[in-house]
Amino acid sequence: MVMGFNILIMKTNTYAAQSATTPLAPFNIQRREPGAHDVQIDILYCGVCHSDLHIARNEWHGTTYPCVPGHEIIGRISKVGAHVKNFKEGDLAGVGCMVDSCRTCENCVDDLEQFCEKGPIFTYNSPDKHSGGLTYGGYSENVVVDEAFVLHIPHNLDLAATAPLLCAGITTYSPLRHYNVGKGQKVGIVGLGGLGHMGVKLAKAFGAHVVVFTTSANKVEDALRLGADEVVNSRNENEMQAHLNSFHFILDTVAAQHDINAYLLLLKRDGTLTQVGVPSEPLAVQVGSLIYGRRNFSGSLIGGIKETQEMLDFCGAHNITADIELIPIQNINAAYERLLKSDVKYRFVIDMASLKETP
Ligand code: NAP
Ligand code: ZN
Ligand code: ZN
Repeated sequence: MVMGFNILIMKTNTYAAQSATTPLAPFNIQRREPGAHDVQIDILYCGVCHSDLHIARNEWHGTTYPCVPGHEIIGRISKVGAHVKNFKEGDLAGVGCMVDSCRTCENCVDDLEQFCEKGPIFTYNSPDKHSGGLTYGGYSENVVVDEAFVLHIPHNLDLAATAPLLCAGITTYSPLRHYNVGKGQKVGIVGLGGLGHMGVKLAKAFGAHVVVFTTSANKVEDALRLGADEVVNSRNENEMQAHLNSFHFILDTVAAQHDINAYLLLLKRDGTLTQVGVPSEPLAVQVGSLIYGRRNFSGSLIGGIKETQEMLDFCGAHNITADIELIPIQNINAAYERLLKSDVKYRFVIDMASLKETP
């Protein structure tokens, strides 16, 4: 432990990308020792979000290196600061996509820190007000976070399968709730990956009639098992046409370029398509797809801390977790390649114990 930037710091093992084109590899960073309002979490599991790949490879053009990704963090609290109120040593804890925000703007006061007017401080690749450097994410042995941005984890759920709720769970829960998805509604989920499969489980739990759109023929049976009422092969025009003008709501989770108009045309009058997938290039919207039927095209970004806790509690009460493939951190680069091929069933989660095996 040494003194730096007016705070005590500790050496921490991680996996990091050093550039857009280098594979992730072992790297030591420095974390602050917990301050008065901080907790230190020893990380047990970290989910692998497609955003990790977009950012590690600079696909959104905002990455600063070295970059330690990971924002689906579950662990156990190993230290608490003197003024921490809601957690104690030994508690389970979760950290999602944000670790701080201004806490005073209109959006923060409304519990929508993800839309903080000064910009939320994301769990990685954001300016770190404590160190003066960057925030580093969950592909790491530990993380130090202000308790205001730490979540309580339900005790009845499998921990590894709960990690993806911290991003994939809240990113789908929030728009489904915002648009009051429920009984009597026909709801589409586009793309059956990490976000998509959580969207299916949650929309079903809210009582909707759920239709999955997939490009992968080998996911049809899984989609039905996960709770879908119908599955559409989105590459088959006849199957798509059969659903014209029929959806109340569609959630699009696709991470790559695709024809958005094909889905807008499936909305009923006044229906809404919410985009949560973030392809690196713009999507081309035909205005005609919107004006006929007064359709809405919107976006949604993760969810606030209060809503994330609400989502975790809902998942605890309804026994909802992700379907995961547990991997050692040494396989992270191969996992990224499989994400690019839509070959994940349905979330990779890193078993952080494997980090200790790194020389
Ligand atoms: P993922 O696990 O890789 O799933 C994406 C799915 O999209 C794939 O499994 C595939 O499903 C479908 N897909 C992929 N390429 C496609 C293509 N060329 N055409 C049509 N469908 C395609 O990714 P994820 O972790 O769920 O993340 C999805 C996107 O959401 C990413 O862009 C990520 O950055 C973004 N994201 C946004 C937020 C937010 O707050 N808005 C939060 C987290 C993540 P099928 O095999 O079923 O076709
Ligand atoms: Zn994510
Ligand atoms: Zn704010």
